[in-house]
Amino acid sequence: MIRKVRLYTPGPTPLLPAAQFAMASADMHHRTQEFRTLFLKVLAQLKVFVGTKNDVIVLSATGTGAMEASVANLTSPGDKVLVLTAGKFGERWTGIVKAFNCAPDVITAPYGQTFDLAEVRKALKPEHKAIFVQATETSTGVRHDVEALAKLRNEVAPNTLLIVDAITGLGTTKFDVDGCGIDVLIGGSQKAVMIPPGLSYLAVSDRAWAAMETSKNPRYYFDLRKERKNAVKGESAYTPAVALIAALGAALDYIANQAGGDMAAGRDALIHNAETNAAATRAGLQALGFSLFSPTAPSAACTAMAVPEGVNSTELIKVIKKRFAAAPTDGQGEMAGKMVRIAHLGFFDYMDTIAFVAAMEHVARDTMKQDVAFGAGVAAAQKVYADAKAV
Ligand SMILES: *Cc1c(COP(=O)(O)O)cnc(C)c1O
Repeated sequence: MIRKVRLYTPGPTPLLPAAQFAMASADMHHRTQEFRTLFLKVLAQLKVFVGTKNDVIVLSATGTGAMEASVANLTSPGDKVLVLTAGKFGERWTGIVKAFNCAPDVITAPYGQTFDLAEVRKALKPEHKAIFVQATETSTGVRHDVEALAKLRNEVAPNTLLIVDAITGLGTTKFDVDGCGIDVLIGGSQKAVMIPPGLSYLAVSDRAWAAMETSKNPRYYFDLRKERKNAVKGESAYTPAVALIAALGAALDYIANQAGGDMAAGRDALIHNAETNAAATRAGLQALGFSLFSPTAPSAACTAMAVPEGVNSTELIKVIKKRFAAAPTDGQGEMAGKMVRIAHLGFFDYMDTIAFVAAMEHVARDTMKQDVAFGAGVAAAQKVYADAKAV
């Protein structure tokens, strides 16, 4: 039988066809009016998509580049910083701040959990230059409460900058970026905006811009001040990934058109889509007897399904790929073999969700020899969808 390839990975995510066409036809030089018009439009759309009045900077680098840029631009060697880590991406923050010779205090939550805010309150000191955290920890499927964290920062250390890796948080999670005072919010192209890897973007607050004037860490390609100056004219400091910027424009148009051209409402619809598909997936898998790796604070970006004792997820994913050409992903690092991660961010729909749950029914019966009835998982997922539609 025909088996269509379906990516269920939390980055890269499935590509929006309209964005692929825009890429293919983006045959232009970047120092032209044609490009400037495109880039200015994309920058304006991104601001609304992110939900900020702050300047948004686009870099031709994947999300890690934007993470590094935020550290390079805002810190000086020896700065005390606070890193909150609950998985592989939190650990990446620790690695980057150490590479730039900061002195991190690190709060660690066990894989599969979020932070205890009381512990953060105890550790956070006014002398911390910045807090580094994820909005959603993609390696475990956990959502962190960024708004509560921002509130805590406002009380305990109001001058400490809050840097949020929202690379899978954007388009899956509601947050009021300016209202709660997020100083840098980072997004990436291969996640909820439905285009290939290669772009990242940062929304930067006024006080973060001010902090860059006195910070001492080295930066050249990632000098955000240079990018800001060029962005005003619709340009970037160096050759940008022109085709990806064209794709981003097409994807943002698509998102706005989900709500009659209203970008903010389109983004909210995209978040609702991810939330509904995530809830349906959780319900479907649990109805089949599977448990969640991150049951207490699940994100809408991706779901991490724990595999039962004696089952290796690396092997299970091979079976899922072979039988259904569906590609969810394994745990990262020491979590390999322990989970199956399924994405909901970006260009996923209800039909993708139902198909995945149905495939898991086959795999549970045939490969895992579990006593599950056909339709049990699908019915639970359908119920979530039906109830969500009624809202
Ligand atoms: C994908 C992702 C990144 C960026 O990784 P790149 O490989 O540089 O694109 C960073 N943080 C989180 C939470 C992510 O999901």
